[in-house]
Amino acid sequence: MKIFLDTIGCRLNQAEIESLARQFRKAGHEIVPSPKGADLAVVNTCTVTSSAASDSRAAIRRARRLGAKGLVVTGCWSTLEPGKAAELPGVRKVIPNLQKDLLAADLLGVPQEFFDSEPLARQPIPGIHARTRAFIKVQDGCDNACTFCITTIARGASRSRQLADILADVRSALDGGTQEIVLTGVHLGSWGLDLATPRHLADLISGILGKTSVARLRLSSLEPWDLDADFFSLWQDQRLCRHLHLPLQSGSETVLKRMARKTTPNSFAELAQAARAAIPEVAITTDVIVGFPGETEAEFSETLAFTKSMYFAGGHVFTYSARPGTPAARMQAQVRHELRKERNAALRVVLEEAAKSYRSGFIGQTLPVLWESKNQLKDEGWLLEGLTDNYLRVQAIAPEPRWNQFDTVRLTAETTDGLKGILCP
Ligand code: SF4
Repeated sequence: MKIFLDTIGCRLNQAEIESLARQFRKAGHEIVPSPKGADLAVVNTCTVTSSAASDSRAAIRRARRLGAKGLVVTGCWSTLEPGKAAELPGVRKVIPNLQKDLLAADLLGVPQEFFDSEPLARQPIPGIHARTRAFIKVQDGCDNACTFCITTIARGASRSRQLADILADVRSALDGGTQEIVLTGVHLGSWGLDLATPRHLADLISGILGKTSVARLRLSSLEPWDLDADFFSLWQDQRLCRHLHLPLQSGSETVLKRMARKTTPNSFAELAQAARAAIPEVAITTDVIVGFPGETEAEFSETLAFTKSMYFAGGHVFTYSARPGTPAARMQAQVRHELRKERNAALRVVLEEAAKSYRSGFIGQTLPVLWESKNQLKDEGWLLEGLTDNYLRVQAIAPEPRWNQFDTVRLTAETTDGLKGILCP
């Protein structure tokens, strides 16, 4: 069969279609870059915000419109709205998140073990979801109950993958020539706590660094309350990327309480300080929600001031989006939409200024860059774009395309959202 894989939303969704691609290929099927002429399209949906949910429906309709013969839908939106998903034209099957890991075995009628023996080397998925770096799912679900969060409802209880299975995926990626591995999950920091012999994320990281030749290992989003100062001793191994994405969500203690977040501005600041003490020039990025129910002007000012005081290297600002079924959606004093948007704009300015100040501090330095994209220039060779380990987006000109390769680059100037530089001989 010709199979088209589409995904909306988070890195975990991306990791899941990468794993599906390897399974379908193992069974002799071809992954194609477009729904045109595809025998089957699988769409991994998202519902973290209302716009993500509508993007998911649009992707399903697009796959049908562009000619995919059969459609299978999975992911967070269709898990919460199976009836609506099944009604969409061409949808043959809706597979809930809890059965997603068995999707290929179920569709192809083969035992799951068929995929586990001798996994194929990773190949990037053709088309818009091609990624240089390999996203590897290590954990799913979450046992926390942040009041705004629909993911914990859509993905169920926290469950960790076994270290051996994760190592097999890492090796399959390295066999495919991958240089950087990104570990991902819903609640990454809880990896191992539910295993028969409880373990910690630190065990997983040192296991991968100890047992594989991975050139670069990056961690996805980590909840601040899962980490302590000892955790940062792992960064003595320079293959671990100096990048911590720690969702703050609010800089106001009273808002964090209404969000049921297990952190406070003080404990967050202490953790950031411990990270900076242990990891030189570490990039700390974050997520913040503005316009959470009941958020007063004073509470928002606390968030602005605290965000400024954290010197983040970047981050995302989310306008609060009420998700049906979450406690926050039932809260009184919902903030009017216009005000949410104003607060979003104000906080974006603070985060962009902090990001600009962080990256400009690296001008004049030389850093290794892993090239992720290449564009041929009319008469000057190739414009390369890639990432440093501390998540700086770097551009440089090179005589030849150098996708998925490292170069040391002397950083010379700023670009709109990153830096540019010169390849060192
Ligand atoms: S930690 Fe909170 S925000 Fe993150 S997935 Fe769990 S419930 Fe959602």
